[in-house]
Amino acid sequence: MPCQFICPACGARYPTDRAIWRCECGNYLDLDYMPVLDRNLLPDEKSFWRYRQVLPLEDFQSAISFNEGFTPLVPMDFRGMSVLGKLDFMLPTGSFKDRGAAIMISKCKELGIKEIVEDSSGNSACAIAAYCARAKIKAHIYMPAGNSSAKSFQVRAYGAELHLIEGNRIDCANAAIEGATKSYYAAHAWNPYFLHGTKTAIYEIVEQMNWNAPDYYFVPVGSGSQIIGAYLGLQEMKLAGIIDHMPKLMAVQSNKCSPLKDFIEGKETPISSSNPSIAEGIAIHRPVRLKQIIDVVQKTGGEFVTVDDTEIIEALKASFLQGIYIEPTSAAAVAAIKQYEGKIQKDEKIVVSLTGSGLKASSKINDLLSE
Ligand SMILES: [Zn+2]
Repeated sequence: MPCQFICPACGARYPTDRAIWRCECGNYLDLDYMPVLDRNLLPDEKSFWRYRQVLPLEDFQSAISFNEGFTPLVPMDFRGMSVLGKLDFMLPTGSFKDRGAAIMISKCKELGIKEIVEDSSGNSACAIAAYCARAKIKAHIYMPAGNSSAKSFQVRAYGAELHLIEGNRIDCANAAIEGATKSYYAAHAWNPYFLHGTKTAIYEIVEQMNWNAPDYYFVPVGSGSQIIGAYLGLQEMKLAGIIDHMPKLMAVQSNKCSPLKDFIEGKETPISSSNPSIAEGIAIHRPVRLKQIIDVVQKTGGEFVTVDDTEIIEALKASFLQGIYIEPTSAAAVAAIKQYEGKIQKDEKIVVSLTGSGLKASSKINDLLSE
């Protein structure tokens, strides 16, 4: 029995053989899907496709795959604290977004979609462009003009059509929705299949920790696809009796763009394109799933943490000196750990999600190191 789309705002349901991207009421859609993993049935295959039992696709034979996943979980040290870094920047296009793109674009292929539209600051654009190239789906990518050029080169290289939009991320999203009137809006921020792809990271982490959940999971949060995916995976594993506790989900944002904290404090997040944070990947002023992000963090007893650029640069350099070449956005999550010095017990396990490769931000990194 295939799962259904369900609208968390009005409760409407839709079959998943329809190429829709939001509810008729305008809200985003989720999947009514709560699979249970049977560990005895896991194949001997070191990729995230080993969790196909809990992935919402109908046809795994024609899924778009690089046999990706099972990225290393390695010990790191930050200010004397032991941390496990999840090296998700080692995925095929250099970021964790490949997990979401793999499932979302495979679903697009199942639906017979030939052309899609996506808007992104960079990493999800690269991921979607690459999976579309393999799926032979025409991709239109909308990006704010003036973003990290290496990511726009990568998108073009995969054969996607790049639309550079003047203005901010919201202008870009509006242009993409306008463009999507002619094709399918496969937006990482809206699409629930994307979340069921990103959830594979926490399955891997739990398996790599001998089927134990960490105590804290630090994640940089922009549109929230990583942290909501983590919650979905944890909820499924809790239900399956695989883990006995939920880690605290720690949502990390830049102090220059912190809609989660602002919302809790009843403040409006200002939209300004001047003086942006170096963590550009999480500079999203109005995430589509804002309330859902807040909800999942609070359900785990997690917190909303903000860091400034100086802290991000310190964490970036500390990561580089351990051989870990991440982009500034990922370093935000490392930087946040500092604020818990003395609050997290020595025997508590901390995992940090290292989401994007520094190779896409080399010129920015060069500027930071020369300062
Ligand atoms: Zn609705």
